[in-house]
Amino acid sequence: MKILVTGGAGFIGSNLCDLLLDRGEEVSIIDDLSTGSLDNISHLFDNPRFSYTIDTILNQDAMDRLVADCDCVVHLAAAVGVKHVLENPLSSIETNILGTEIALKLSNKYKKKILVASTSEVYGKHMHAPLKEDDNLIYGPPSTMRWSYAASKLVDEFTALAYHRTKKLEAIIIRCFNTIGPRQTGMYGMVVPRFIQQALRDEPITVYGDGKQTRTFTYVGDVVEAIYRLIKCKEGAGEVVNIGGTEEISIADLAKKIKELVGSKSEIVFIPYDQAYGKDFEDMMRRVPSLEKLNSLIGFTPVTPLDDILRYTIEYFRSRAS
Ligand code: UDP
Repeated sequence: MKILVTGGAGFIGSNLCDLLLDRGEEVSIIDDLSTGSLDNISHLFDNPRFSYTIDTILNQDAMDRLVADCDCVVHLAAAVGVKHVLENPLSSIETNILGTEIALKLSNKYKKKILVASTSEVYGKHMHAPLKEDDNLIYGPPSTMRWSYAASKLVDEFTALAYHRTKKLEAIIIRCFNTIGPRQTGMYGMVVPRFIQQALRDEPITVYGDGKQTRTFTYVGDVVEAIYRLIKCKEGAGEVVNIGGTEEISIADLAKKIKELVGSKSEIVFIPYDQAYGKDFEDMMRRVPSLEKLNSLIGFTPVTPLDDILRYTIEYFRSRAS
């Protein structure tokens, strides 16, 4: 099978390429390197089953050729990270909405199965757990730019579902919860790589707000395994599916845990949200997925314990520093 991975030089995309090639598949990718990196894929350049195109997904001619030439599209290319989206609101909305529309239009033109990556951001500010795919969504006002990320990915979900309903396109939407592991960078705000790098340098570990907000973290290896199984799954078309972990931890406890695992002398400091993100920022206080639907579709849910994921990721940053 030949799989086109948009955003294939990114954190999740490049880990997916490794898994697909290991399983004997052919892989082509398109990435504009805006947040992805050639470092993530350079070890694949000699593999005859791997090809790459450095271009934007907004280039319809390039995308047309690539979609025509594959059996399945995994559409991961998107604006990533809350910090990045807040700093680049317009280009983020454009990439997320127009880019996904192009990927869906071409998948429909050539009748190719497509997995569209969405995000747990789409749920908005819920306090209950676990979050189920058919829960209501709760957002703040448009003056709070964070919600543009959720809203743009929600438009992607509606568009994919509309293609499925009106054109019978085999589209599956995956809502990825906080995914972590090797190759994730802290440059776009993500908490785990930031805390690990701060701890390794004995610099202050910067907890935003009071640190009581919680998250669940999923190992990227588990996420790409779930994506692979969804590619092969005969069911799931027209469905929205959560992919995430279930070990809930507060950000303050995460800071302590990372400090301990690294053996760091870092001080843990608390920084008000407006200093971290500017005014009008609203955080999501809790985010735990229901994995019932994922399990019923593919018989798999993420399994790697948080301590192990953090150890692998610390090891990755240590090896890059040396
Ligand atoms: N966060 C933090 N310190 C940092 C970066 C992030 O305390 O240096 C917090 C952030 O405010 C949020 C959580 O960690 O409550 C997860 O942030 P991230 O950007 O990784 O993902 P999100 O779940 O917000 O999309």
